[in-house]
Order: sequence, then structure tokens, then C-alpha cells
Amino acid sequence: MSKTWRPATELVHGGSLRSQYGETSEAIYLTQGFVYESAEAAEARFKGETEGYIYARYGSPTNDMFEKRMCALEGAEEARATASGMAAVTAAILCQVKAGDHIVAARALFGSCRWVVETLAPKYGIECTLVDGRYLENWEKAIRPTTKVFFLESPTNPTLEVIDIAGVAKLANQIGARVVVDNVFATPIFQKPLELGAHVVVYSATKHIDGQGRSLGGVILSDREWVNENLQDYYRHTGPAMSPFTAWTLLKGLETLPLRVKQQTENASKIADFLADQPEVAKVIYPGRKDHPQADIVAKQMKGGSTLVAIELKGGKDAAFALQNALQIVKISNNLGDAKSLITHPATTTHKNLTDEARAELGISGGTVRLSAGIEDTDDLIEDFAQALAKVNA
Ligand SMILES: *Cc1c(COP(=O)(O)O)cnc(C)c1O
Repeated sequence: MSKTWRPATELVHGGSLRSQYGETSEAIYLTQGFVYESAEAAEARFKGETEGYIYARYGSPTNDMFEKRMCALEGAEEARATASGMAAVTAAILCQVKAGDHIVAARALFGSCRWVVETLAPKYGIECTLVDGRYLENWEKAIRPTTKVFFLESPTNPTLEVIDIAGVAKLANQIGARVVVDNVFATPIFQKPLELGAHVVVYSATKHIDGQGRSLGGVILSDREWVNENLQDYYRHTGPAMSPFTAWTLLKGLETLPLRVKQQTENASKIADFLADQPEVAKVIYPGRKDHPQADIVAKQMKGGSTLVAIELKGGKDAAFALQNALQIVKISNNLGDAKSLITHPATTTHKNLTDEARAELGISGGTVRLSAGIEDTDDLIEDFAQALAKVNA
């Protein structure tokens, strides 16, 4: 594979393994196992003396294509595809810690990610400190002699806080810890955590990578040494593997990822600007706007504002519900990154399990809604918001 291709080309051709039939579209190899030409061939394959697949829990051709295409996009040496984003997050963290180790994580995390570090890890003797990740000194203060992993998401869900990835990576390198970045909200189009010094990147491929609401998937990317030393055995023996059918869906998703994310970002940006001027809106948080609280870090590490917007309505929960119910094109759903524009009310859905205090810390109020901009016509979406806001007032 040529290293000089630009992302849009890699995403169409990268990783392709054509069979003897020369198919144009990638083949789906729905098989758990593989047959060997002889007993000796099986022995050699198991010893690692010959290349080839052994069992689909370890790896298989369609998944291989997806993993290689993700590597080309991310600039990573190795990738492992998983059945969901949470399987990727859990494997990426747990494969490299043991009882007695310590994790520092940003407190603003996707709900299930927070559960993994805050609730699950301590059951196995792995301690975790949650910090306000916006300030580097908080990461530094939380370091213990046993700190092995820093975990963060940037921008965060749902209030789009931004964390200085290069800054956190520098702290981690000083103590030999690893930084795992959940890069879902930024997308691989706008942010490259490995280039910023992070050691491991994870995605829920359910989001922009599929982008059309069809499948759950995830992927873990890193350098070969980290994968061999930490992830390889964990992945093979605990079984978070992706279905080859899903890998095929996601290969198709990757082909159109840049086009979709570009249109979604243009929509997010224009809707954010429109909403910021409306009397019903107290505040709009969008990483692509100059008034984002951490616009300086955005400029350092993101190439675009991405596809999500946090909107704070003056009228609290009543206004948030009225807006959602009045929207006609924009659907009420907690998914994100989809071709369809989706809106959600975090306080009563994705973040309902947090205490009032934890929600307040994250800037989630009754009036907060999160928009995931789709690929629809920009003017239709703005007109939809305009007519819905008129009903919020009524
Ligand atoms: C959706 C999401 C996940 C979990 O992914 P699933 O595919 O739903 O398991 C993890 N992190 C972030 C930031 C997400 O948006």
C-alpha cells in the first residue's frame, strides 16, 4: 500500500484484499475457521512460521481490511476491530493494567466509559482518579507512583470540553504511563491523537465510521510493540472480536467518511452560528467557534470543529423538551455521528445516572441539549430549528 495516498484515497482503497475473483467491493468472509492443506501446514500456522488466519476470534480477512484501512487513516501500525466501542475502550484499558495499578481519567466521559474506570476497574483492585481534564495541573496532581494509564475523550460528551492531548502525553511520558484517547467526537478526520503523542486511540465505529445507523463496532489503534505486549493475548482470549459482516459495513462507511463528516461539520457550524443569535438560547458550545472556552487548544490540535453542538436553552428542561418535540427533521435519539441529524437531552437520558452535582460539574443543566448534525440540506435544518424555537416561546 502506498504511504503517499491522502486520507480520502486510503479510505476507498486502503487495506483491500482482493480474492481470485477480482471483486470491486470488498468480500465478506463469514467464516469462523480456516482449513489447512496438511497437518504440517496447521502446525506451521500455529507456530507462527507461516502467515495466515487461524480462527476468526483472532482475525479474519474482512476484519483485516477494516483494520488496515483504519491504520492508514490514523497513522497507526496496528489495529484490532471490536464488536462495539465499549469493547474497544474496555480492552484498551484493562489489557495494560493489573491489581495495584492506578488510572487517571477525565471526569467528562461517555457514560459507559466512566463506569468502566470508576466502577468496574476498582473491583479488580485498579484504582482510578477522575479529574477535571481541562487543566493540566489536575492531571499532574493526580499522578501516583502506580499510575499506568491516562484516559480521556476530547471533545467531551456532551458539553464539548477540550483536553490538551499533547500536554497530557508529555506528563505521561515523564512517568512511563500510557495515554488512551477516545477520539469519537473529534473523528479521525479532524484530530490525530497519535501525532499529538497519545499511545492508544479508540473509536466507537458505531458513530461516524458507520455513520448510517446500521451497526455497532469499535477499533483500537496503536504501535506494534504496544499491541504485541499488551493487547494481543487479551484480544485473542477474551473475545471482543467484530463480526466480519460488521467489518464489511464499516469498510463501506469509511469510503464516504470524509464526505459525510465534511457536510455534517458544515451543518453543525452553521446551526451553531444561527442558534447563538437566538433569544431563546443562553449559550452555544461548538469547538469550531471562536467563543469556545478553549479555542486556543482547539486551534492546536483539531483541524475542524466536528459534528456536535451543545446548546443551552434559557427556559430549562421545559424549553429543551419543547424544542425536541417541535423539531421535524431532527430526530430525538442518543446516537451520534449519523447521516440523520439527532438531538438528545443528556440530563434525562445519557447522563441520568450521574448525581446532580456531577452533572453540574460537567455543565449539564436541564436546558442542555446535544445536537449531532447530519448530512441533510443546511437550510432545511436551520428552518427546522427556527420553526421549533418559535414553539418553545409559545
Ligand atoms: C458511543 C460511544 C462509546 C461507546 O461505543 P458503543 O459502540 O456504543 O459501544 C464510547 N465513547 C464515546 C465517546 C461514544 O460516543
